[in-house]
Amino acid sequence: MIWAKQIQTLLVLILLHGFALQLAAEEIHIGILDWRTLEDFEQHWLPSLQSLETEMPAHRLVLHAMTLEELNKALAEHQLDFLITNPGHYVALSAQYEIAPLAQLQHLKEGLPLNYVGSVLLTHQGRQDLNEFSDLKGLRVGAVSLESFGGYQLMLDTLNQHHNDVNRWAINWSFTGFPMDQLVERLLHDEFDAIVLRSCLAEVMALEGSLDLTALRPIGAQSIDGYPCMISTPVYPGWPLLRTARANDTLARQVLAALMKSDSVLIEQDVVHWQPPVSYQSVYDVFERLRIGPFAAFPHNPILHWLLIHRYWFYGAFTLLILLVLHNIRAEYLVRRRTHELELSQQRHREAEQTAQHHQDELRHASRFTLMGELAAGLAHELNQPLTAIANYARGSVRHLQRDNQDLLDRRVQLVEASEQIANQADQAAAVIRNIRTFLKKDAGEYSWLAIVPVVEDALLFCQTRLNQAQVKPDLQFSSHLPDIFSHRIYLLQILANLITNALDAMVDEEVSQRELRLSISQDVANNRLIIQLFDRGKGIDAGIEKHLFEPFMTTRKEGMGLGLSLSRSLAEALGGELTLINRQDGGAVATLTIPIQQPLQESIECRG
Ligand code: ADP
Repeated sequence: MIWAKQIQTLLVLILLHGFALQLAAEEIHIGILDWRTLEDFEQHWLPSLQSLETEMPAHRLVLHAMTLEELNKALAEHQLDFLITNPGHYVALSAQYEIAPLAQLQHLKEGLPLNYVGSVLLTHQGRQDLNEFSDLKGLRVGAVSLESFGGYQLMLDTLNQHHNDVNRWAINWSFTGFPMDQLVERLLHDEFDAIVLRSCLAEVMALEGSLDLTALRPIGAQSIDGYPCMISTPVYPGWPLLRTARANDTLARQVLAALMKSDSVLIEQDVVHWQPPVSYQSVYDVFERLRIGPFAAFPHNPILHWLLIHRYWFYGAFTLLILLVLHNIRAEYLVRRRTHELELSQQRHREAEQTAQHHQDELRHASRFTLMGELAAGLAHELNQPLTAIANYARGSVRHLQRDNQDLLDRRVQLVEASEQIANQADQAAAVIRNIRTFLKKDAGEYSWLAIVPVVEDALLFCQTRLNQAQVKPDLQFSSHLPDIFSHRIYLLQILANLITNALDAMVDEEVSQRELRLSISQDVANNRLIIQLFDRGKGIDAGIEKHLFEPFMTTRKEGMGLGLSLSRSLAEALGGELTLINRQDGGAVATLTIPIQQPLQESIECRG
């Protein structure tokens, strides 16, 4: 193998005659892209630049054979005055560096025009299945480098020109690196289904005897008039000699003059000579279509390109968004669950309240029955009086009616009076019974405007028998012009009857002469309420139970249930008022009931429930 495998070292050729002169000479550094081999470099470029040596004896020519990367680096570090590279690389560099074409080499190798650049897609002769570009789908294709103009970019551009779905062909590209010749060997060893070569390279290799052209076959071959090599793409102008920013105008002029002055050089079978540069627009067009080099910043789809560049931000933002959505969903779920729990607990609370209310109603009702039981004897007495009166009046009337007619006529006035009395007494008895029925009804009536004094008198009437038994004559005091109150008559009766019977119970062991029950009704104008007080001269509240008086089942009486006071307080509160019971300083106790003249609307509605 005569080709060198790696060209990493700097090759310096000194083309000066004398050693002393060499030391004094100004150096001209020319970088040359070494795309094939060192031998090519020596055989091809050195002779072609020989005219510089003769025309510019005061200068020393230093030639550097370099890879793409080495050229880029040397340019960036301003180490080169001139460079010779392929047209694609020139276009790519032109976006970054101040470089300009100075001349172009015409090169015929045994009639092969090496100064034109094209690409050929080659496959093994035996691969009958590979004839057209579209046959490449899913196959392994070797190329030298992503950045190689003749070795990849031209081919890709041509594929794209012919087919607009090449991206979806799933071609398995492999990039082997320079030198390009090795691709042929690897194709023949079946490592690839096809390879991309710079056009004419295969023919040059055949001329050199390192390749049998019949072993290869071009895919998508083009026929271009007068172009003798296999080619799959159009041809483009060849390699330019470029002047860099480091070369001053004088040097550039001298080099250009020297090159233009030089005659064609014959190197073995090769003919080379320099000519003025040609337009590289067609190469720019390829780069523009591929959106590479200077056009990389102008993608086909700028929005998509922008999105692609910033995709990690989008991934981040998207992840954040997802997290936010998940957080919201979780928060929403928690809120709903909590709301549901709250609703359930509210419902349970409402049900419990309803049950409690129901029990309360039952209790009040039962309590009224108990109270009425206690007062039954008195009620019988209450009814007895009008009924006896009715009977007496009726008997008297009968007696009168049994006498003779004249007497009957004389007694007519008395009979009428007796009948009226009968009616009155019957009404009174009926009223007592109506009172009892109302008092005992489960639905205990409604709120209405009431005069308080008759209510207190009715309560005393209920307790009349107990009062009689205890030989207590109640003393009722009230201020004149008491206002009517908007309240619940039966609740008031129930509270008052409880307080009266409690007072009588407390006085049961006292001397009759000591017993006293005084009721007073007054108005608390400032607070818009009435105050009803019951003073007794009983034993007073037993020591130690003052704080528990209003608790259910708190009793000191053998036959007591301990519900009277607690129920009376809850009724008083339901009416918007208050109930207290304290000892009097001079013996006995005083119960104080306050009732608003007109309860606030809200509360009165609730109490009715
Ligand atoms: P009960 O009358 O069934 O005992 P109450 O709730 O009406 O139930 O009364 C509870 C207790 O309060 C009574 O047992 C009694 O000890 C005390 N009490 C109530 N009223 C008076 C009062 N006027 N004087 C003294 N103690 C009273």
